[in-house]
Amino acid sequence: MQRHTRPVKIGDVPVGNGAPVSVQSMARAAADDVEGNLAEIAAAARAGCRVMRLAVPSREAAKYFGRVAARSPLPLVADTHFDWRTTLAAIAEGAAKVRINPGNMSPDGLARVVDAAGARGIPIRIGGNSGSILHNRRGGENDAPPDIARVMAEEALLWARRMDEMGFRDTVLSVKSHDAAATVRANRIIAGQSDYPLHLGVTAAGGKESSLYKSCAAIGGLLLDGIGDTIRFSFTGDMPGEVEAGLSLLRSLGLLRDGVEIISCPACGRCRVDLPSLAAEVGRSLAHIRAPLRVAVMGCEVNGPGEAKAADLGIASAGGTLYLFIGGEVIEKLPPEQALPRLVKEAEALAIATS
Ligand code: SF4
Repeated sequence: MQRHTRPVKIGDVPVGNGAPVSVQSMARAAADDVEGNLAEIAAAARAGCRVMRLAVPSREAAKYFGRVAARSPLPLVADTHFDWRTTLAAIAEGAAKVRINPGNMSPDGLARVVDAAGARGIPIRIGGNSGSILHNRRGGENDAPPDIARVMAEEALLWARRMDEMGFRDTVLSVKSHDAAATVRANRIIAGQSDYPLHLGVTAAGGKESSLYKSCAAIGGLLLDGIGDTIRFSFTGDMPGEVEAGLSLLRSLGLLRDGVEIISCPACGRCRVDLPSLAAEVGRSLAHIRAPLRVAVMGCEVNGPGEAKAADLGIASAGGTLYLFIGGEVIEKLPPEQALPRLVKEAEALAIATS
C-alpha cells in the first residue's frame, strides 16, 4: 500500500495522497536555448513524461525559462541554487514548482522564496544530494566518513520542518545518492518520520546500463514498500530513454497499466514451438493496443495453462498444439499457423470491449 503523504500539485499533475506515481525528467539543453529546451520537453512528453525540470542557473536564465514555460506542454520545475533572487525570478516566470537546496540559501532568502511559492500556490522540492553533503562536510581528514543516508534524511527533514513552521505545507523532499543502498535508506528514514511526498531517484548513476540497474533496485525497492510519489531515472545521455525506463518500472510493479503486458516463459526443452519468435511477434502485433491487457504466451503444459488462465487472454503450447485461453477458459485448440492472427483478433476485440 502506498504510504500516506500530503497532496501537492505540480501544474495539473497531482503528487502524493495516493495519486498515481508520476515520471519526471530533466532537460539537457543550455538554459538560454529556448527552442532546444522545447524540443526536449516535446520528446519527453511523447515518451510519457508528466513533469519536466530545467536548470535555472541565474536571474538572466529565468527570462529564458519564462519563454519556455509559456509554450511548454508539461509543467516545469525550476532547478535553482545559491541565489534566492533567481528562485523568485523563476517563480515569477511561471515555474510550476521550484527545486532548491535551502542549505545553500540565506535564511532571509529562503523566507522570501517560501512566501513567493505560497502566494503562487506552487510546491517547493527540497533536494539533498550526497554530492552536496560531502562537499559541505566539515571535519578533519581523520574523522570517520559521515553516514550519508542519515545526514541526507535529517538535513531534508530539518529544512522541511522549518518550512512547516513558516506555514508552508506544499513541500516535496528528495534525497538522492549515487549509492542505491544509501538512497533507499535515506528515503526510508524520511518515510518513517513524516508525511512529506517523496521524489525518488538515484543521482550521478552513470550511463543507461549502470543507472538502469541502480535505479530499478533503489526506486523499485522503495515503491514496493509503498514509498515514493514521483520518480526520475537519471541517465548520462539518453533523456527520452530515462522516461521510458521509469514508465517500464512502474508497469513492471503494476503501478501503471497502459497497453499490452506480455507474460511469456523463457522456454526450455519441453517447449515444442518456437516460443521466442512467437512471443516477439505477439508483442509487435499488439503494440498498437493502449487498453491494459495481460497476454500470456507460454511454452508447455507445466506452467502454461496456469499463466494463460491468469491473463486476460493467451496461448499455451502443449505437445506442439496451441490452446487459446480467454478470461481463464480454453476457447480453442489451434494449429501453430493460426495462433497469431487469432490471438491478435481476440485481443483487439477485448481491447475495444474494455475501453
Ligand atoms: Fe519450460 Fe514449460 Fe516453463 Fe516454458 S512453461 S519454461 S516450456 S517448463
